[in-house]
Formats: sequence, structure tokens, C-alpha cells
Amino acid sequence: MSSLVLQTSFLGDIVLTTPLIRELARGGPVDVLTTPEGATILANNPDIRSLLVYDRRECDSGLAGFGRTVGRIRQAGIFGSHGSTIRISDESGGYGSAYLAQGSLRSAMLVATAGIKRRVGFNTSEGRRFYTERVDYRADRHHAERLWWLAKPSCDGVPTADQISPELFPSGEDDHAANAVCDSLADKSRPFIAVAPGSVWATKRWPFYHELAVRIAHEFNVVVVGGAADVAIGDAIVSQVPKGSAANAAGRIGFLASAALIGRAVALVTNDSAPQHIASAMNTPTVTIFGPTVPDFGFGPLAPGSTVAGVRTLACRPCDRHGPQRCPLGHWRCMRELSPAEVFGLLTQTLSQSSSV
Ligand code: SF4
Repeated sequence: MSSLVLQTSFLGDIVLTTPLIRELARGGPVDVLTTPEGATILANNPDIRSLLVYDRRECDSGLAGFGRTVGRIRQAGIFGSHGSTIRISDESGGYGSAYLAQGSLRSAMLVATAGIKRRVGFNTSEGRRFYTERVDYRADRHHAERLWWLAKPSCDGVPTADQISPELFPSGEDDHAANAVCDSLADKSRPFIAVAPGSVWATKRWPFYHELAVRIAHEFNVVVVGGAADVAIGDAIVSQVPKGSAANAAGRIGFLASAALIGRAVALVTNDSAPQHIASAMNTPTVTIFGPTVPDFGFGPLAPGSTVAGVRTLACRPCDRHGPQRCPLGHWRCMRELSPAEVFGLLTQTLSQSSSV
């Protein structure tokens, strides 16, 4: 019986949904309703039959967009996402189950209105009153594991590391784009460290990547990864190190090409943002810098050899589930007191651990 997974959250959450998708695909075809960015990062995933794009901020906004999306879900459940091939997938004429990996009221109403009879989500979600099965939100587990449990609500035991390991599938074209970035480095025989200085939330952006890059460049090349908003900081970081020893790929290549690039790095240093989850999917050891958030929220790096950095002695940490745009106390000590020397030390430790794995 076919399933529909709804995941319209941030990019990192979408990456962490891939173990759930893989688990569900063992039992039948899986379609995923996601954002335009989500569709880009989930491309080529062999566990997904069809990707349904839901652009709720633009062309699918408002009541009319809601109605159109309900129609698309009904059509995809019965006929396939393109509507050209008749695919009566289930006796009920649509999806057998919907899995609400993103818990908003709107997502719950979408699948309820589309007539999907079995609707599974977390017992803490905003849309839970529309669910037919409510699964414990295990606050003490990694989010990849929490999402995986949606597929196994009545299972005892604990999943293996492999079962909750996220996956991404860059294409040949993505590999080509990643190679082009590597080819721009002067000494291609030197391995590189990827750094991801961006975040949607200002207080999660550690301010010392320039100094860290200078330390890294004594031994490694440096490649900056990120989105369009990170182009300027990427250029500034590159300008701090000897010419040819760094490249700025931020905003210049796509999500899966960035994944391919992170997969080639010997390690990644990143804030608590999407690149750490991409690194988990590409098995790249990671140093994740936590400021106003903490790894206990369930969003730490998963690749072997990874570690986390943060000012553990600050009583005000954590102050927000996502990270505020401004420090509510005005001093931002959670990031300002984390020195480049300390992060570099953790990076060195990660490199020595991962080389001995
Ligand atoms: S209140 Fe504390 S944890 Fe929150 S941003 Fe400020 S320094 Fe960081």
C-alpha cells in the first residue's frame, strides 16, 4: 500500500526524514510532499516514487493553493504525480497512510481533506487532533530517530545507527559541480576542510570563521559552503587565507552539489544548521558549533568521529529551541566566548579520530 510523507520544514529536517522514507519504502511505494528546496535535496532518492512540490509561500499560498494541493494529493494517490499514467495504487483509491513528519495544523488538514484515512504524527504536534495515530515525541532521542519511529509506532527496541542514518543522492552533474570547485584550488593534492558559516538565525552564526580558516590553511585547503545569503561572508573568509588555498562555493552550486562537495571534505565545521545534517548524510566527520541551542534538542551530527563545541558553563544556554535573531541578554556570550583555538582543537581531535576509524 502506498504512503505519503509530508515534510515541509527546514532543509535539515528534510534530510533527517530520509531514514523514515527508507523504512516506509520497505513496505511499499512512498511519495513525499515537500517544499521546492526539499524537492531539490531529495532528488534521485531511490526510496521515493514521486515528489510532490508544495510551495505554500508562493504559488500554493492561501485557500486556493490549499485546495489545489489537496487535489494534487488525491490525484497523485490514485493516478501518480504526473496524472499521465493510471496507477490505481490502493483499494481505497488513494494513499493508505500519511506520515506527518512536519506537524503543522495546515499539513494535517491537507491530508485529512484529501481523504487519507490513516494519518500518523507526533502526539505533541499542532495538528495532532487530525491524526488517527499519535506517536510519542521522544525528546531525548536524535530527530532522525524520532522521525523513524513514525514508521514503527508499536515496535520495541532501538533502531541501529544504520537505520537512522540519513542519505542523499547527488547526481553526476552535482559531482561535476563539486569537482569544479575542487579544481579551483591551487594545490589539489591537499585535502580540504569545509566550513559552513551561515544560519537563518543570527545568534547561531559563530563570528570567528575567518580566524579558524587562517589556522586551517596552514595544513589544509578551505572550502566555504552555504546558501546565497552566505556569499559575502564566504568571500571574506577566502580573502583571509593565502591565494589559491580556499574557495567559496556558497550560493554558487546547488544543494546536492554542496552535499557532493561536503562528501569530499575530510571534515566540516558548521553552525547548528542544515550543513551538519548534509554531512551526516555524506558521512563526513563534523564539528558542530552550538550557541543558543544544544545538541540535547536532538539535532547533533551523526557521522562517525563527529563532535560538538559550545560554552558549557553558561547558565542562559539554551535560550531558544531554534536560536533567536538577537541575544535576549544582549551579550551573546554563547558564541563570543567560544574561541577559534578551542574549535580548532576540536577539529584536530575529530581529524585524528576519523583517521583512526
Ligand atoms: S541568552 Fe545566552 S544562550 Fe541565548 S543568545 Fe544570549 S548568550 Fe546565547
